[in-house]
Amino acid sequence: MLIDTHSHIDKEEDIEGLLIECEKNLVTEIIAISTDLESSEKNINLSSKYQNIFCAVGYHPGNIKKNDLDKLDQIENFGANDSCKAIGEIGIDYFYEGYDKDLQFEFFDKQISMAERLNKPFVIHCRDAYNDVINFLKTKKLNTKFVFHCFTEDYETAKRILNIGGLLSFTGILTFKKSHDLRELVKKIPSDSFMIETDSPYLSPEPKRGKKNNSSNLIYIAECVSRILNIPLEQIAKQIRSNSVKFFNI
Ligand SMILES: [Zn+2]
Repeated sequence: MLIDTHSHIDKEEDIEGLLIECEKNLVTEIIAISTDLESSEKNINLSSKYQNIFCAVGYHPGNIKKNDLDKLDQIENFGANDSCKAIGEIGIDYFYEGYDKDLQFEFFDKQISMAERLNKPFVIHCRDAYNDVINFLKTKKLNTKFVFHCFTEDYETAKRILNIGGLLSFTGILTFKKSHDLRELVKKIPSDSFMIETDSPYLSPEPKRGKKNNSSNLIYIAECVSRILNIPLEQIAKQIRSNSVKFFNI
């Protein structure tokens, strides 16, 4: 029933074991997210092999090199595959010192155009760069859908994103004790404006915090949303599933 909309399962060794564990926790589909050419290729292979795994392909801003601009043609070839449902994760990241802003925007822009050509949505990684990214997206007349993955910003930022037609996606951070403001934000946004994801193997939700994360832990995030909104799990899971199915066209 639940769809993990962002998992780095190219890092997973035992895919079949993972899928069994997922099924026990009501997680029935996974979007395998990519960060470079190598993971994109791996995820295309995984999504071709397993019917409940789909993928997104693309270059993460932390992995870009000028020479790799040539490799975007190859990413686009992967992207044309039926099992590829989005371009991602792509975006802008100012967190680490020494980042190349111009190059990041070059990759971001080129991959957005790619998503438009392929008529597929794109998944945004954005860190310390919300203003720039939102303003950049505003200048474009986009025909494609997009989501800000691992959203942890404030309500004002959320509204700006929803106003330009974007979606939000929440990770296990939503379950953390200190994430009070984020949980309040979930109460204020429309129920068709967000999805959930594990971002595994990173960001394990409570009560699994500190352990290696995997897609089966998505259930804890769904339960958290159910508690926040005071809506039965089954009902909210249905809504979130429908948001994800619509977004990724699966
Ligand atoms: Zn990620």
